[in-house]
Amino acid sequence: APAPPPARHLFSDPAEIEALRGNLLAWYDKCKRDLPWRTLAATEPDADRRAYAVWVSEIMLQQTQVATVIDYYNRWMQKWPTLQALAQASLEEVNELWAGLGYYSRGKRLQEAARKVVSELAGRMPRTAEDLQKLLPGVGRYTAGAIASISYGQATGVVDGNVIRVLCRLRCIGADSSSPAVIDRLWDMANALVDRSRPGDFNQALMELGATVCAPKAPLCGECPVKQHCRARRRVEKELAFASQKLFGKPASVPDVEDCGVGGCPLCPPATEPWDSSLGVTNFPRKAAKKQPRARRTSTFVLERRGCHGAPEYLIVQRPSSGLLAGLWEFPSLLLAQGLQEEKQREALADHLQAWMGRPALFICLPIPSQVVHIFSHIHQTYVVYSLPLDEDVTLDPALSPSRWVTEEEFHASAVSTAMKKV
Ligand code: SF4
Repeated sequence: APAPPPARHLFSDPAEIEALRGNLLAWYDKCKRDLPWRTLAATEPDADRRAYAVWVSEIMLQQTQVATVIDYYNRWMQKWPTLQALAQASLEEVNELWAGLGYYSRGKRLQEAARKVVSELAGRMPRTAEDLQKLLPGVGRYTAGAIASISYGQATGVVDGNVIRVLCRLRCIGADSSSPAVIDRLWDMANALVDRSRPGDFNQALMELGATVCAPKAPLCGECPVKQHCRARRRVEKELAFASQKLFGKPASVPDVEDCGVGGCPLCPPATEPWDSSLGVTNFPRKAAKKQPRARRTSTFVLERRGCHGAPEYLIVQRPSSGLLAGLWEFPSLLLAQGLQEEKQREALADHLQAWMGRPALFICLPIPSQVVHIFSHIHQTYVVYSLPLDEDVTLDPALSPSRWVTEEEFHASAVSTAMKKV
């Protein structure tokens, strides 16, 4: 078994834990944001409905800002207020409602899991974090802990990006916060800290603190309800006191800038990247450098015809049911091969259009394209956009993929990604 971490990185005093819980909860009661999922979690008497309401919010909030989620959440809960209602929806409807929220597989997986609860678990949500994680596809350790603590009052902690930041600062954890060893320690700490009588509120308070006070770049330490428990802040204060004593020529003892005093501590900043005084508390957390997103280029054809009422209509096709943006609609597109000469590229595009339309392409000379860039989490995507007005109707080969003509208004109401809306 690994050795226990040095005391500097732990909460080992029960009195301090009690005080921290009290301070954090008192702050939360006074300052928490009024959010629709919180209202539902506090007022819904049925445990399954409550868990479902929390689950939807947690999935939507992954990778997405609260302000963006609120409107989507309200529309979702109005349309599918129960698991049973969601289980009966089509993937097309789910994608339409999710359009613009990003990370589209989240909606799909949520619906698949709802179907599983209805068909295999008699509509009853699993009642513990362990079972939620084990039985529901797409529900990881964090989501399971959030649902169980907020909906059922299970005393289990949660660790998300906000919690990582707060805990790393509270306990001066400067090792790579995405490494499994550090993550394990943070889960232990979250489970030890969680308030036994109000676990859901405690977890939300810790996350709220990270979102609104202990911000990544400019934390508001002066307003922080747990500042007296924060070792990163204590270190900053010591350094400031030392600097001011020196300035006034007073004899001052050098602040204790040692890390935890244990050589090779797995939770301290690595010796190659020691504490940087100019960064203050934002020395923590530390992350290994992110991988650069992959560059990808795609040709996209905006085919336009006159509809029956004279309004322009545009052709959209459905993406495959797996992979990036699965099942969403888009303008006909072709991934461009890396390093292909421009001439070859244009030939490939003409062939592609011909295959789509089942007859020789009308566009011997493709117009000058314009470009649209969209950043996905792991892909730097450039769309090379060709705008092609058609004099006559074309019928796409139905063997290729489902397609339909839509007006601009219908396009915006369809399950299309933000990237396609940019195009
Ligand atoms: Fe974060 Fe500052 Fe509070 Fe420490 S004192 S937890 S760094 S906001």
